[in-house]
Amino acid sequence: MLNEKMEKEFNEQINKELFSAYLYLDMKSRFAEMNLQGFVNWMDVQVQEEKAHAMGMYNYVLERGGKVELLAIDKPEVEGKTPLEIFEQVLKHEEFVTSRINHLMDVADEVRDRAALSFLDWYLKEQVEEESNVGGVLATLRLIGEDKKALLMLDKDLAARTFVAPVIG
Ligand code: MG
Repeated sequence: MLNEKMEKEFNEQINKELFSAYLYLDMKSRFAEMNLQGFVNWMDVQVQEEKAHAMGMYNYVLERGGKVELLAIDKPEVEGKTPLEIFEQVLKHEEFVTSRINHLMDVADEVRDRAALSFLDWYLKEQVEEESNVGGVLATLRLIGEDKKALLMLDKDLAARTFVAPVIG
């Protein structure tokens, strides 16, 4: 059985992962407006990944005999206008998600739920990858500056990203 405190944290994190999908869905539309189809594709893959992250936790709560409680999803706010500004927000958001996973692990530690700790380990590793991927795009965007041709080359690169359903846990 899932500890009540742990269950609450998982339900909040399901919400945060769905919010992430919502935020990236919003960003995807901004890139569509800019006609940067590679960025649109990158965001689309990101949306699918976030949904998979949410479902991984959703299924885990059920597997542990817990109760899934779906909370209201906040309205996303895309802060920037340029690809660089938008990706700065993506990195900030992923760092926030990492801090959330660390918090969940702290709670798992506190309630001595080793199974949850082991499950969350996957998410921790995933966050290292997320921050690294986003940091890579961000570094390239900083190099590009105002160079439109270079931006279109990056757009072409990002068009190649494909969604691979993760095996979570
Ligand atoms: Mg996520």
